[in-house]
Amino acid sequence: MSDCCSISDEDGAGTAVKTAVSTSITCPSCGQKGKAVNTGTVKALLSVSLHAVSETSPYRFCRTADCSVVYYNEEGEIFNQEQMRERVHQKHPSAADVFVCYCYRHTPQSIRDELTSAGKTTVIAAVTAGTKAGTCACDIRNPQGSCCLGNLNKVVKQILTERGRDLLS
Ligand SMILES: [Zn+2]
Repeated sequence: MSDCCSISDEDGAGTAVKTAVSTSITCPSCGQKGKAVNTGTVKALLSVSLHAVSETSPYRFCRTADCSVVYYNEEGEIFNQEQMRERVHQKHPSAADVFVCYCYRHTPQSIRDELTSAGKTTVIAAVTAGTKAGTCACDIRNPQGSCCLGNLNKVVKQILTERGRDLLS
């Protein structure tokens, strides 16, 4: 997996060459602007027949937590959480058992467990080392089609904040 973890711009360089004054870059359900995602990611993550996938109209990934749509495109095609092989972190941001990192399989619970047993978490360093070593496969394992480190940082911070509060109370 070559540069799957490189940070690309918000509109996902490398998706389609389509000239993009797109009418539907916003999610048809929640109205938020989705993140461009490669069709290869959509194919890898869907649990339904791939006959339903468009080869011509690129997809976007909706990150809104309370929106059921995961992928959508300009042709009005929609795939939701129930049609996915993985539960989507962004749709279940506080669920203990939903992966944050799909390549190395870290969940909020596994991070909490590490904090409890070791007193610290090495998850950010471990994932960073893995991506440097090129053993990640974010484009085919992570529903967002890109590296999880941003999400992972947020989750670790949030868990540390929670624990800090618990210690004070
Ligand atoms: Zn949405």
